[in-house]
Amino acid sequence: MEELNQVLLRKEVRVGADLDVWLEHGGGEGLKAALQDPTAIIPQIKEAGLRGLGGSGFPTYKKWEFVAGNHGEEKYLICNGNEDEPGTFKDCILLEETPHQVIEGAVIAALATGINQIVFYINPDQEASIASMREAVEQWKASELNQAVTKAIGEEMGYRVMASSGHYIGGEETAAIESVEGKFPFPRGRPPFPAESGVHGKPTLVNNIETLSNVSHILRNGAEWYRNLGIDDTYGTKIYCLSGDVLYPGAYELPMGTRLADLIETYGGGMLQGKFLKAVFTGGPSNTILTPKHLDVHLDFDSVAERRSALGTGAMIVVSEGTGIVKRVTEYVNFFAASSCGQCPPCKTGTYYISLLLSKIDTGQGSRADLDSLINLCKILPNSGRCHLINGAVKVLDSSLYHFMDEYKQAIK
Ligand code: SF4
Repeated sequence: MEELNQVLLRKEVRVGADLDVWLEHGGGEGLKAALQDPTAIIPQIKEAGLRGLGGSGFPTYKKWEFVAGNHGEEKYLICNGNEDEPGTFKDCILLEETPHQVIEGAVIAALATGINQIVFYINPDQEASIASMREAVEQWKASELNQAVTKAIGEEMGYRVMASSGHYIGGEETAAIESVEGKFPFPRGRPPFPAESGVHGKPTLVNNIETLSNVSHILRNGAEWYRNLGIDDTYGTKIYCLSGDVLYPGAYELPMGTRLADLIETYGGGMLQGKFLKAVFTGGPSNTILTPKHLDVHLDFDSVAERRSALGTGAMIVVSEGTGIVKRVTEYVNFFAASSCGQCPPCKTGTYYISLLLSKIDTGQGSRADLDSLINLCKILPNSGRCHLINGAVKVLDSSLYHFMDEYKQAIK
């Protein structure tokens, strides 16, 4: 089981909130390199090919360039650790086990973009992550590295560790901005974009925790080193959250582009004894479903998109033969319906209605008309809301209808 030692939790060691241990293992080197020439940070991140690892896959350097191009006395970075989607559990580990890695990445991002206020925004259920970050930030503020940052930017960097409201929707970047302002996390319309007008109307960058965790390593080891970590044309690594009916569920940091079959067999130890793979809910359950015929897919943003699915957060929920797909999809759609913030009527009523129809079908009370309604709603609802939530609910439903229509027909008999 040597491979299992690759269960990550980023790089070689778990350091907790102890700054000295982080520094003993190469921490601080990336920041020192960044301080030598802050104007070289964004080009390096661009060359490394770092993308948003919270699900978007958006090139990180572009987001940073937008924020760097907008000026103001205050500029904000929200380090997004709100993760709340079923099957996703990577950011809480990074925050708890390697908080200084997150802080250093955030400070480098702030240096690159002219940001002077950093907010660590964490799901309140992750109490250990919040405690670890609070302790680490206090150590960091008293460190020589932080003094060097103060000298470089000519003022004290602001640090705040806050619990998010705990709503799934609070992870959407404009909702996170509302939350940081102390309001309910209603996603905002765009424009204006956060890079122009975010927290209190100031330029704001929102980056996922895993994305920021890569930054100090890129500055320390170089863009080429990072690029070479990926498989074929992909760059860097990804933390895959493997759960469900596998022998060894867990968070595995592996080369970006690792094959689904390798993730399940080599790292997950294969299916639980006596079980056979039926489906994989990808990226959290807000994307299309992969099936055994997709085992060869490389788990990177572009390859998974070519299969009309999405890598999303990198969560892979594996289910075996014998699992009722209608029941499972009903559970996931119920989650999205309960998570809708309700400000867009098609989302508020649409998610509720598909949840209702699914529950009817799942409990044997559905009809052919109910199934037809679901099929129609999959055509009408996409892109009818302000954020991605409604699309997530529809995607998993639509995909289950495509791959497992027999089970729906069986359920309405
Ligand atoms: Fe809220 Fe749904 Fe609209 Fe998103 S799509 S803003 S969750 S109502």
